Amino acid sequence: MLRKAGWNVAVVERSEVVGGHVRNSWMRGLPYEPNGAHIFHTDDEDVWRLVSSLVNFEPYLHKVRTRVGGQELSWPIQLDELAGLAEWRSIQRELAVLPEHRDDTNFETWCISLMGETLYHLFIEGYTEKQWGRRPSDLSCQFAPKRVDLRTDGYLPLFRDPYQGWPREGYGALVEALLADTPVILCEEVTQSNLAQLVKPDVPVVLTCALDDFFDHSEGQLEWRGVHLVPHYLPDEKLAQSAMVVNEPSANIDYTRTVETKWVFPELHSESGTVIAFEYPGAPAKHYPVLDAENRNQTLQQRYGARAEAFLRNPLVPAGRLANYTYINMDEAMRQGMNAASRVEKHVGRLVGA
Ligand SMILES: Cc1cc2nc3c(=O)[nH]c(=O)nc-3n(C[C@H](O)[C@H](O)[C@H](O)COP(=O)(O)OP(=O)(O)OC[C@H]3O[C@@H](n4cnc5c(N)ncnc54)[C@H](O)[C@@H]3O)c2cc1C
Repeated sequence: MLRKAGWNVAVVERSEVVGGHVRNSWMRGLPYEPNGAHIFHTDDEDVWRLVSSLVNFEPYLHKVRTRVGGQELSWPIQLDELAGLAEWRSIQRELAVLPEHRDDTNFETWCISLMGETLYHLFIEGYTEKQWGRRPSDLSCQFAPKRVDLRTDGYLPLFRDPYQGWPREGYGALVEALLADTPVILCEEVTQSNLAQLVKPDVPVVLTCALDDFFDHSEGQLEWRGVHLVPHYLPDEKLAQSAMVVNEPSANIDYTRTVETKWVFPELHSESGTVIAFEYPGAPAKHYPVLDAENRNQTLQQRYGARAEAFLRNPLVPAGRLANYTYINMDEAMRQGMNAASRVEKHVGRLVGA
């Protein structure tokens, strides 16, 4: 947006490629996602207009399955699929006495007040403990409404947004198209210490890095949880599983889910050869901010946010999931980028080049 408005803009990227967390890879012509399954879904008209003007999207409605009690069921939980479970009577008893309001003490209490103890133990507890490496009662319920649902309307796709798809040439192509006319400096980390070498004083900087990294961890380190995907090529299989993502909530199995991105492309389904990737939690990567029940990380992030506001040398505008320490989808990250561009334009006048 800033570039289109005629301003001088440069992107500084720590990695040797652009694309960040969403960039996917290819194996024998098949897509797979080293940082987890990504489906583009949005109700933001501006964001959809922008991305679909840059690349072609394969229309795709994302469905997820989950292995529970020796069966494969839908995720989110569908009430009308539960009668075959051995625990159905307890489930019914608990659903009949659910509280009117969610208990927002922590993630565990929130889920139990939505679905009762039995469904919580079957579908949520083991998955959450593996995913976060801590008790669900130690996590904030803040992110629960976005991730947990008990559906009674029989609607199977995970998302309800009007625009959904997967970029046909992959997410790398989408990010490259976004940056087509913008100079990119690769392999350069931005911190408060080296900012002076990268950009003149008073030039506004949109920060998409973690603020604790930017401020050299001087207030302490923010906690993150990362995932690690291990892809396997199966030459003889056309499709290896019943949906693009199959959750594995059992505490006895160390991966959390399996991902088969080939599901996005129906024209490939009849061809032999597929890639299935096993997602393991606990990788040393900044994928998920850890919103703890005590608000320790959230409070630390606020301290860094206040420092960013007060940073004197350059106006700093945080945008994206790392800088704002928040779990957001791609469309929301793009919306934050757009808002950051408007803020830069509104408050600071013409950019003077990086
Ligand atoms: C497992 C998983 C699955 C997901 N699935 C979906 C999905 O289905 N749909 C969806 O919409 N969203 C999904 N998301 C969310 C999506 O990944 C994020 O919304 C998106 O990555 C946010 O983009 P970003 O630019 O804010 O951050 P990033 O993608 O992390 O980009 C930040 C960039 O900044 C660079 N950088 C970091 N620090 C510095 C520094 N100090 N100096 C210079 N460069 C730096 C990084 O190298 C990176 O390129 C998922 C997330 C996870 C963890």
